[in-house]
Amino acid sequence: MRFEDQRQNLVNQLEALGITDAKVLRAFSLVPREDFVPQHLSAYAYNNRPLPIGEGQTISQPWMIAIMLQYLDIQKHHIVLDIGTGSGYQTALLAHMAAEVCTIERIESLSLQAQTVLKKQGVKNVYYRIGDGSRGWEKAYPPHKSFDRIIVSAGATEIPAGLTDQIAEDGLMIIPVGPRDSHQILHMISRKQGELTVTQHDACAFVPLIVGDTQ
Ligand code: SAH
Repeated sequence: MRFEDQRQNLVNQLEALGITDAKVLRAFSLVPREDFVPQHLSAYAYNNRPLPIGEGQTISQPWMIAIMLQYLDIQKHHIVLDIGTGSGYQTALLAHMAAEVCTIERIESLSLQAQTVLKKQGVKNVYYRIGDGSRGWEKAYPPHKSFDRIIVSAGATEIPAGLTDQIAEDGLMIIPVGPRDSHQILHMISRKQGELTVTQHDACAFVPLIVGDTQ
């Protein structure tokens, strides 16, 4: 089956699994996932499951990405911070939904590969940083100090203060939190009139968020 048809099947599957946000479904219908998986796995690009992308990391399961994006209710004018660029697939989805995406990846080779693919696809509203994303966006350009939406695609043992500090007023952050070597629970953090509120949602299983120099 052609990749285009497989992509439409995946969108139908996400809809059947309860994804109702038209903006999320549209983004999935636009981004070619086959470009973000290793070539020898391209036959599996549209399976609804994570796949290895090298360096011990994975491209996230489409359904899990869709759930997180749906929780975030991303609007066209939003500035988004994306922690764990990985393959760049989720970054590309975000780039189609939001005004600007700042993305951070700690493994240089993965970030550079993602940058190549996104550039090839003509995506221009993404800024990259290589380093520890738990400290938030620290680059001078673009000079964002806070973000309308923050999405973390690696499992944290606790919610990093460096990230909650960068949630804008009326902003939202979604992050998997749980003990190391176990599953996590999606935590949603919102900021209203300066006050942070945390709610817990679905169980999930992400690769670990590596904070600082620890392994
Ligand atoms: N959304 C990506 C998910 C990649 S897996 C995709 O679908 O391809 C999570 C990524 O988070 C891995 O590439 C891992 O290297 C990265 N990561 C882990 N800890 C990090 C940290 N502290 N800062 C930035 N990236 C981190």
